[in-house]
Amino acid sequence: ASVNEYFDIAFKVMLLGDSAVGKTCVLVRFKDGAFLGGNFIATVGIDFRNKVVTVDNMKVKLQIWDTAGQERFRSVTHAYYRDAQGKYATFILLSLFKAWLTEISEYAKKDVVIMLLGNKSDMAAERVITHEEGEKLAKEYGVPFMETSAKTGVNVELAFQAIARELKHRN
Ligand code: GDP
Ligand code: MG
Repeated sequence: ASVNEYFDIAFKVMLLGDSAVGKTCVLVRFKDGAFLGGNFIATVGIDFRNKVVTVDNMKVKLQIWDTAGQERFRSVTHAYYRDAQGKYATFILLSLFKAWLTEISEYAKKDVVIMLLGNKSDMAAERVITHEEGEKLAKEYGVPFMETSAKTGVNVELAFQAIARELKHRN
């Protein structure tokens, strides 16, 4: 896709989440179809990437912003859940999700479209939140939920396609 690729409508998308959940990798997977292993981009991140997707024969341009560093104020909590197990870890992760939602409601437009992604679905052995818990949480807040893997690519394209569809339909 060229820089001046044709589009009918454009939206800004932000990837929010705590450090190391895979925001940058999900974006790189979506944009370039590749997985960046290792930690070298973790501290840097990227600014944004554009990608045009088709929804009902309409070209929807997504300007997807990565975030890095903004998560720092939650680093204390993060240290806790890195070592936590089972129910305790689940509780902390859910609290973090609620904190992000509060932030969104404070800073985003009222008609913001929100979607919850559970990334690293390929790491089955280290799973903390069950698929059912993720779905229940999303349902509670009325947002769609998908489990993705930047590593295998599963659901990454579908997730952005779903966001684009919802944005197009609401606008
Ligand atoms: P960010 O801080 O949220 O941007 O996280 P990164 O995208 O930098 O990823 C943090 C670490 O998790 C890196 O070592 C990635 O290689 C790894 N990672 C990201 N996504 C996945 C995934 O879907 N599966 C696995 N196994 N590792 C991932
Ligand atoms: Mg990052």
